[in-house]
Amino acid sequence: MDRIKMKTPLVEMDGDEMTRVLWQWIKDELILPFVDLKTEYYDLGLKHRDETDDEVTKESAYATKRLGVAVKCATITPNAQRVTEYNLKKMWKSPNGTIRAILDGTVFRSPIIVNGITPYVKTWKKPITIARHAYGDIYSAVESRCPAGSRAEIVITEKDGAEKRITIKDFDGDGIVMGMHNTDSSITSFARSCFNYALDTKQPIWFAAKDTISKTYDHRFKDIFREIYDSEYAEKFKEAGIDEYFYTLIDDAVARVIRSEGGFIWACKNYDGDVMSDMLATAFGDLAMMTSVLVSPDGNYEYEAAHGTVTAHYYKYLKGEIPSTNSIATIFAWTGALRKRGEIDGIKELSVFADKLEKACINTVESGIMTRSLSILSTLENKTIVDGKTLLLKIRENLEKIL
Ligand code: NAP
Ligand code: MG
Repeated sequence: MDRIKMKTPLVEMDGDEMTRVLWQWIKDELILPFVDLKTEYYDLGLKHRDETDDEVTKESAYATKRLGVAVKCATITPNAQRVTEYNLKKMWKSPNGTIRAILDGTVFRSPIIVNGITPYVKTWKKPITIARHAYGDIYSAVESRCPAGSRAEIVITEKDGAEKRITIKDFDGDGIVMGMHNTDSSITSFARSCFNYALDTKQPIWFAAKDTISKTYDHRFKDIFREIYDSEYAEKFKEAGIDEYFYTLIDDAVARVIRSEGGFIWACKNYDGDVMSDMLATAFGDLAMMTSVLVSPDGNYEYEAAHGTVTAHYYKYLKGEIPSTNSIATIFAWTGALRKRGEIDGIKELSVFADKLEKACINTVESGIMTRSLSILSTLENKTIVDGKTLLLKIRENLEKIL
């Protein structure tokens, strides 16, 4: 069989530990035999990030801006223990944070649905995608304790020195205070990324906040979403046959989500997205079946699995064991990127191949072959628990059947 030819390379961001092992297996077994793969390779493994003073992370993000599509392996975000373990020059920042900041992007997380893994919410039939605004609010807030008798104020000093003061609280007893911010530009980018992704995946989208209580702060989010939608996206949504965007209160959104069938994008402020994405991941089943894509407002895409480097499995692997690591979310990162590349470059075979590889993963799990963590959740009667390598080989067998 002729391998599928590519035009533009993908940005390939390699990573750490068990997922770095899976990365090579996936390429060897599932991609390279079928695709004449073109990538621009960046090694984001912790050792190489340290050697390059983390420049490689930035370069990979700039390459994504240039080439438009990236696929990323999970990477270690160093903490004190990792600094010792890898003898690092510095406690480097989270690569995902660095890439997100350069692309000014929004992260969309959605579960992979398979028969036999039943969501805790019985009505959910299709994925629910969470879009989290990963800038500002409490994540970059300043806060303080306030002793009894103190007054906490917000002071806004304008360019010309004019001051505006708002009293937060005159404290009778001891208390606490927090000051947080966001920017019109970040909220605007967030809104554009959300609408782009909705168009891209042909799914309805809503944004939820609490503007009835937060009449200036949350209301600004609501207004910006509305302005951007009306002026730039309403027509495109109509043409694509997607339901109109709407805003709703966060508590109403929670109720709607629980009663829904799924199949939509829920855009959340930073904290809501943090909490709700973990809630949805658990309710849908398994972190190892959760995909993630970073979308920039100008339409660049970086695909990855939502889980980390699966450290515990890596230590087993180093001892010579083949651990029961599920590679499906990482495979879906590859298929997401290949499909997008195929769409942009007009290579239909590439997108069809991506669809078939995803189908092969689903067929494999639905036939009862799965890794340990998934088997605990699966309601299928006949299940075979396999190690991570065997899973890949089974997926390859199933792929070859449908190619
Ligand atoms: P993790 O790697 O996601 O693993 C947590 C646990 O979830 C694992 O120990 C394993 O449970 C289970 N798990 C996750 N993915 C799995 C898979 N594909 N197959 C089977 N089981 C899976 O999270 P972590 O242990 O908190 O973090 C490990 C490292 O990853 C850290 O250094 C962190 O900085 C990094 N991280 C990176 C990213 C990213 O690059 N996007 C995201 C999160 C974390 P059992 O051990 O019980 O089997
Ligand atoms: Mg969280």
